[in-house]
Amino acid sequence: MINKPTERPQFEYILPPIGSDPSSDSSGTTPGSFSPPPRIAPGVLGAYTFSSPDTPGMPVPSSKTAWDFMPFDWTLKDGFEENYETAEAWISPASFEPVTQLESARLGIITSEIQRVAEREEHLTAEQVRDEVAAGRMIIPANKVHLGYQLDPMCIGRAGKTKINANMGASPVSSGTDEEVEKLQWAERWGADTVMDLSTGGDLDECRDAILRNSTVPIGTVPIYSMIIGRKIEDLDEDTILKTIEFQAQQGVDYFTVHAGVLQEHLKFVKDRLIGIVSRGGSLLAKWMIHHGRQNPMYELWEAMCDIMREYDVSFSIGDGMRPGGLADATDQVQLRELYTQGELTERAWRKGVQVMCEGPGHVPFDQIEFNMKLERQYCHGAPFYVLGPLVTDIFPGYDHITSCIGATAAGFHGASMLCYVTPKEHLGLPKRDDVKQGCIAYKIAAHAADIALGIPGTRDRDDELTKARAALNWERHFELSFDPDTARALHDEDLDVDTDFCAMCGHDWCSVRISKEIVEFMSGKEDDYAWDRAKVSDALSEEQQEILRQRGVLSPEEIHKLASKTKSVMSNDSDKASCHSDFVDSDAALQLQEERAPMVELEIQAAEVTEP
Ligand code: SF4
Repeated sequence: MINKPTERPQFEYILPPIGSDPSSDSSGTTPGSFSPPPRIAPGVLGAYTFSSPDTPGMPVPSSKTAWDFMPFDWTLKDGFEENYETAEAWISPASFEPVTQLESARLGIITSEIQRVAEREEHLTAEQVRDEVAAGRMIIPANKVHLGYQLDPMCIGRAGKTKINANMGASPVSSGTDEEVEKLQWAERWGADTVMDLSTGGDLDECRDAILRNSTVPIGTVPIYSMIIGRKIEDLDEDTILKTIEFQAQQGVDYFTVHAGVLQEHLKFVKDRLIGIVSRGGSLLAKWMIHHGRQNPMYELWEAMCDIMREYDVSFSIGDGMRPGGLADATDQVQLRELYTQGELTERAWRKGVQVMCEGPGHVPFDQIEFNMKLERQYCHGAPFYVLGPLVTDIFPGYDHITSCIGATAAGFHGASMLCYVTPKEHLGLPKRDDVKQGCIAYKIAAHAADIALGIPGTRDRDDELTKARAALNWERHFELSFDPDTARALHDEDLDVDTDFCAMCGHDWCSVRISKEIVEFMSGKEDDYAWDRAKVSDALSEEQQEILRQRGVLSPEEIHKLASKTKSVMSNDSDKASCHSDFVDSDAALQLQEERAPMVELEIQAAEVTEP
């Protein structure tokens, strides 16, 4: 019975519904993303813009947008009760002048910043950017003062590409203004879309000013850090809070993290946690509330802060002071209650014309990430979600840029709009230059992987170009298209220079790409037969270079760049230029050879099938 022949199911491969295509020219054999087709549209429909397919049981998007939380002195015109998500539906007060991007978008205006964002997000039109801003699902964090320096406007929102933030800042025991400005430029070099200055030591005001004047990306801060310099948290009063907010807004800060969602009534849930409160802002405010027996002052001063922030167009990044500090505390009562309050604060800020994004966890088991992202989409009506990681395991200190970028990829795919990087120094010390680079690269990987999976048009183009260069064994082009060309070149050149038809990983005889290329060349009529014996075994690097590379694990960025440019300068000489195997025959001859040989290949394959055991 056991040996009785069984019927195999028929080969039947059904593709899931296809979303949009991340490749501009539909390259390759993958037709597109499996995410649902995006609905970039004004109003509620846009809640499904570049969203992952919902796992059953996930919270549904909110049925509201910022259009449902208009200032109380705006009037809805008669006849627009069902179609109020448009500028035509509203009458603003007679003396009203728009200040923030949200207010301009509500009036149907395309500002120069909206225009610039549309140039940078090639898949979006200026009208789509404006509509997403008006719906509250996208923000353009651009303080009017900072726009007067070097700020290049960008957007954060699920209709746009996923962004990354790099944190930096002097601490009382390490770093200073010059080092922080250098780190800022280093973070920009490695793709940070925004930078947060989290300084708690040194001259905070001077450091912030230097960062703002030197940055092309939006700068965020956590103003409570400055509020407690020179005083105990218990002594923090309302006047200090509002004055600090105003001072930093005047300096040009683009977004403020304010932990206003932590409420007095939430604190009782903290005792069940393994690690309590891990947010600096959250823990300071909890201490203030316990000491004074009063509600969170940030919550109570919300409208007053909105009035100041509106004047400069500073955006809120509503902090998650109760984010979990370990997997065991993820998605617990206190975290979710705070998120719910963040939704209420979002509505209140929108009524004041202030742009909002919300911050999220933290440390979250991989399987809970989608739930967290989709709950925010419901509670906070799709306001951009800005998440830290999340880390998906707690036992790899020193590698938390990796543990967290795994979670960040899932977060981006399931709805987060910006991913706050984590460096290898997380939980251990203040990041230095190379930690900043490692964190940025890990997060660029996460953001880019999410964008491709979501089917954002054009996001896979560079990947496809690199694949073609790799298939052609065109090493120069391969390096050029790499995110970090110097490191790619240095690692390759450790064993062989660029002019080879293979690399040191498999060697000449086992190089599948070379063999595959020979088959393609044969099929296209460009080669006489499979035997293609022109690959060069190149000279290895000098002793000195080999020694540097032997220490690759501890190479500083400077050494990698030095090594790469040394090798590059040798290889950039035209006579040494990588030939990269482009031996073309003329097209007529190629066509003829192809016609002659293609059937032969088919026959050979068929013969092989017959003789196989
Ligand atoms: S040798 Fe191996 S790793 Fe290197 S190019 Fe060829 S197939 Fe790729």
